[in-house]
Amino acid sequence: MDNNTVVIALGGNALGKNGAEQKEAVAKTAKVIVDLAEEGLNLVITHGNGPQVGMIQNAMDNLAMIQSEYGQTALPASVAMSQGYIGIDLQNAIKYELYSRNIDKKVSTILSQVEVDKEDEAFLNPTKPIGRFLTREEAEKKEADGIKCMEDAGRGYRIVVASPMPKKIRELQTIKTLLEAGHIVITCGGGGIPVIDDYGKLSGVSAVIDKDNASSLLAKELNADLLIILTAVEKAAINFGKENQEWLSDLTVEQAEEYIKQGQFAKGSMLPKIEAAIRFAESGEGRRTLITQLEKAAAGIAGETGTVIYK
Ligand code: ADP
Ligand code: MG
Repeated sequence: MDNNTVVIALGGNALGKNGAEQKEAVAKTAKVIVDLAEEGLNLVITHGNGPQVGMIQNAMDNLAMIQSEYGQTALPASVAMSQGYIGIDLQNAIKYELYSRNIDKKVSTILSQVEVDKEDEAFLNPTKPIGRFLTREEAEKKEADGIKCMEDAGRGYRIVVASPMPKKIRELQTIKTLLEAGHIVITCGGGGIPVIDDYGKLSGVSAVIDKDNASSLLAKELNADLLIILTAVEKAAINFGKENQEWLSDLTVEQAEEYIKQGQFAKGSMLPKIEAAIRFAESGEGRRTLITQLEKAAAGIAGETGTVIYK
């Protein structure tokens, strides 16, 4: 891929929390994406799926409770459904925006599986809560079946799963082929469907891959120069939310590592973005990550705002 390839990771605020919100949100998101496509960038779009996969998993759990013949739906199946559910709305919104501007460009959504290492230490200590809240009795029953549950912030019990590191994007060649054919590609939704390669047979695992980490790996594999993480804040900050808060514009890998040591970035929200940016910067020369708000993407690319992490 040439250096015009840019991976854009969309956060929760680009998608909304339910079907109606999603349709509205993606229409706005599509305008930003098509603005960037008009600049001549080859775009690969990734996205989160926290609320959506939660919704699907809850729905499938409830179905299994009411009609036992359907059985339990495995988490990787729900991730796959979330990729389709989000992907189709994003794809159609981008397509419509292109059409409105008379741009003849294709948009594709690629369901993607991301390999994880079955020896990943994350499996020893699952911490990511998913799905509906359970009663203590339900949680104990699941634990007896070997499914780990944890009390979640006083609100009840929930299943917890591991968040292992992404190792290999199985559909990489397909993504490259479509990019070369001029498509805007939507892929690696929700960090990808986590799978283990068992001598050529892919099996889904009950885990959630962090979408920022998966996006960083994808940007590396596509030989992109720029990874853009669009989220709810214009910049990353130190002393976030405190009186002495300072927004960060330029951030070297060394500085970023120092701030991580100081605990400046919250686990599960800003920390994975900074870590993904560091990993990308270290994967090759000249690789930068821009963290900013959806509405500020163009200004961020122009160097006017956002936090840029580089080596
Ligand atoms: P996304 O869906 O885009 O991944 P997250 O909620 O996971 O969004 O992460 C973005 C959030 O991280 C911001 O909205 C902000 O509240 C939070 N955050 C935590 N620490 C920081 C920090 N040091 N600087 C900026 N934002 C931070
Ligand atoms: Mg997040």
